[in-house]
Amino acid sequence: MKSKLIFLSRGFLCNGMALFAFLSFFMATAHNVNSSKAGRAVLLFIVDGLQSDAAKVAIAHGAANMKFFFENGIWVEEAYCSSPSGRLYLPDNSMPWGTAAPPNVAMHTGTHVFESRQMDDIFLAARRAGIKSVFSGSAENYRVFNTADFCYAASNADSAVVDFAIDHLKKDGVRLLSIHVQETRRYWTGPECKTNPESAYQRYLLTVDLFLGKIVEALKSEGVWDSTFVIVASDHGMGCTKQSDHPASVLSSWQPYMNFFGPGIKKGATIPYAESPDIAILIDFLLRLTPLSGHTDPNVSVDPKGTTGTLLTNVFEDFPTRLDHPKLVRRFLESSHWKPSDDYADYRSAMLSLIKERAIKK
Ligand SMILES: [Zn+2]
Repeated sequence: MKSKLIFLSRGFLCNGMALFAFLSFFMATAHNVNSSKAGRAVLLFIVDGLQSDAAKVAIAHGAANMKFFFENGIWVEEAYCSSPSGRLYLPDNSMPWGTAAPPNVAMHTGTHVFESRQMDDIFLAARRAGIKSVFSGSAENYRVFNTADFCYAASNADSAVVDFAIDHLKKDGVRLLSIHVQETRRYWTGPECKTNPESAYQRYLLTVDLFLGKIVEALKSEGVWDSTFVIVASDHGMGCTKQSDHPASVLSSWQPYMNFFGPGIKKGATIPYAESPDIAILIDFLLRLTPLSGHTDPNVSVDPKGTTGTLLTNVFEDFPTRLDHPKLVRRFLESSHWKPSDDYADYRSAMLSLIKERAIKK
């Protein structure tokens, strides 16, 4: 990684073409890193609905593992998810991703729209590079994420989800772990529970923190900790009522927590902005995978069909915080005067225009 970062620092990031040249160089070497990639690992640890205010209170009240990653990694000051609507449906009323909330698709595919189940993702890219992966989530909604080598999605205890992933880390040598703990939602009693350290919600976050610590210990015992990247994040934010939901019409639903940690990543710093699709792009980069292809369904005509997330170069040491991020989700929210509708279709149609416009500018 260090040599790549030195390469980056030599001014290769001054424009889009240069970035393309860098990525071409980087990807050209991706096929020839069998020895180094064997030790590289990524843990994507998703805590359903976690927001920064809640995370910071947990960190201040005993969440030692989250505190470590926060203090030794990057925190995103302004993070947005793709539409947090509970229903991702297309104009023909089909729901290719079932009841999985859209950001869960975005963080695996690197796109802002999700027009088909036939899409490239980080699990498929990892397999192309000979890296084994696991997806494990504690809700049936996530059964659609079935492209990892080992998949588990059931409305079960978070502990079972964590154990499933650790089991495959130890037995099968998986190096890409996408884990989604969901039980936080059971303890939601309204937005005030986020910042009350005595609330059942906050107390459960301490349990989640122990799960995170258990995974870290497993990575250490596998001897890959020194080359492991950790992303602690959420799929979406939460609404503003006692109901445990995340309606797209409430701005806080669009505001997830995002924290990146690992070798070569700045420590105890912040970056100004990121969106859910950026997570997939970053994971692809960290594992030295070939670029994600976005939509691979020949029946999908979305333009562009490829990824629309941004590589967050500003998380890396020696790189400026400033990044030319297109901020597509923010632009959508601005265009709706920060009062988006509950309807995924509104997000979709606006985003189709924004990604097309950006593709033309490029
Ligand atoms: Zn969720």
